[in-house]
Amino acid sequence: MKVSLKNVLGWAEKRNCAVGAFNTPTFENIRAVLGAAESAGVPVIIAHAQLHETEGAPLHEIGPLMVWAAERANVPVCVHLDHGEDADYIRRAMDIGFTSAMIDASAKPYDDNVSLTRQVVEEAHARGIDVEAEIGALASREGGDGGAGAAVYTDPELARRFVADTGIDALAASFGTAHGIYKAKPVLDFDRIRKIRALVGIPLVMHGGSGVSPEDYRTAISCGIRKINYYSYMARAGLNAVSARLAAGETTFFHSLAADATAAMRDDAARAIAVFCESCPRA
Ligand SMILES: [Zn+2]
Repeated sequence: MKVSLKNVLGWAEKRNCAVGAFNTPTFENIRAVLGAAESAGVPVIIAHAQLHETEGAPLHEIGPLMVWAAERANVPVCVHLDHGEDADYIRRAMDIGFTSAMIDASAKPYDDNVSLTRQVVEEAHARGIDVEAEIGALASREGGDGGAGAAVYTDPELARRFVADTGIDALAASFGTAHGIYKAKPVLDFDRIRKIRALVGIPLVMHGGSGVSPEDYRTAISCGIRKINYYSYMARAGLNAVSARLAAGETTFFHSLAADATAAMRDDAARAIAVFCESCPRA
């Protein structure tokens, strides 16, 4: 069933675990992620990133499919807009039935980030929709190559001010992860996560979550991370499955490749979910 972001984060908070947030730019991704969550019997977040508008599927096509799939799933599913860059685009997601949106104005100066985030929070909360926002900046954009550009680690005191100034429901903070495929092992600043969490009092979000070691996931979760954005390694697992099938020369039709990719991405998402929810008592 389709639920709010607060619903799934509350679930994670109670169990001291994290909910996986997976980008679903194709129908195969949606099937893979919901299949993994339903097998594990845990809530999940499916997300559309604004940058997948051209390289994946446009919001007006994939969004209604995500909402439809969430409504018929037998686990709680939050339908989230990832890295929304402007209020108009976020409004379009809300009109389609998304239950949560991220406004990412983290590249703007503090005051501009606050004013755009507040505007989105006011509109979203009036419609019963939750909002995630970001302060600090990751080392590369979503879908990037993991390591390009300089990271700006989130200042804990500024994070406290930002949450108080905006009224957001979840905070994306920068503490050492990067978007995309890692070239070197990420070094996470756990003290920073702990400090931010103690000051802001709302659930924290890890972006660039794929490629982080199981041990680092565990520690980050124990520090207060409640939502982990995971995409790149799942997408690569799909590609690897397709490459293997093509190399074997057994394929005649595209649907076989889509089925292989779906199965491989489901297995990868299931492994991630198993770590995020390791400490959960299951019903
Ligand atoms: Zn991100």
